Amino acid sequence: MGANVIGPWPSVQLVSPCSYYLLVLLRLRPTLDSPPLFAETCRMAARPSPPAERCFGTGDPLMERYHDLEWGVPMHNDTGLFEHLALEGFQSGLSWSVVLRKRETFRAAFAQWDARRIARFGERDIARLLADPGIVRNRRKIEATITNAKALVALWKSGGTLDVLLWSHAPAQARPGRLRTWADVPTETAESRALAQDLKARGFVFVGPVTMYALMQACGLVDCHFENCPVRATKARS
Ligand SMILES: [Zn+2]
Repeated sequence: MGANVIGPWPSVQLVSPCSYYLLVLLRLRPTLDSPPLFAETCRMAARPSPPAERCFGTGDPLMERYHDLEWGVPMHNDTGLFEHLALEGFQSGLSWSVVLRKRETFRAAFAQWDARRIARFGERDIARLLADPGIVRNRRKIEATITNAKALVALWKSGGTLDVLLWSHAPAQARPGRLRTWADVPTETAESRALAQDLKARGFVFVGPVTMYALMQACGLVDCHFENCPVRATKARS
């Protein structure tokens, strides 16, 4: 071995596979008292791989908890769905973390998202809300929430529920393809456009197809966790 070495590595044709392997081993482990390659390989296999990244929120405990425990979990409760509908509207133009930090003060300001009570909000309530630093103080968004509460009460009166209405637009396939990064996640789909149209026809406002797709993601009508997201790995094991 070694006689026909050309350059730093031997030509495969000139050295038998066994000699080649030995040469690689010696190159990697030049001293005789080095641990055997097998032990080294075992140690490397036992080393934990770096933790997979969440789809979002890593490093922010509130966002991490939201991502891990709520985002994408199927929701069928009208009060919870209405809260999400309202918060998605308030989020428009802001980051979700801003809205999430204000969630509890939003709940207090909007009667724990009791649509029947919000539907009765008048000018005095709007003035109160506009003066509340605990929420997003935007008149159009506040008025839209009151309008949506009225639309939801009307839906209930007609025998419907937000749960049935929203889930009637859930796609047959919860996963919109292979998702590795946000670039793979659609911003709107045919189903979110149909949902937006349906809600608008029933008097809801601030319900565009992009906002509705965000709602579908949050409330589990679609599953947009990335392939390597730890939450997805946990789901796959359970
Ligand atoms: Zn995820």
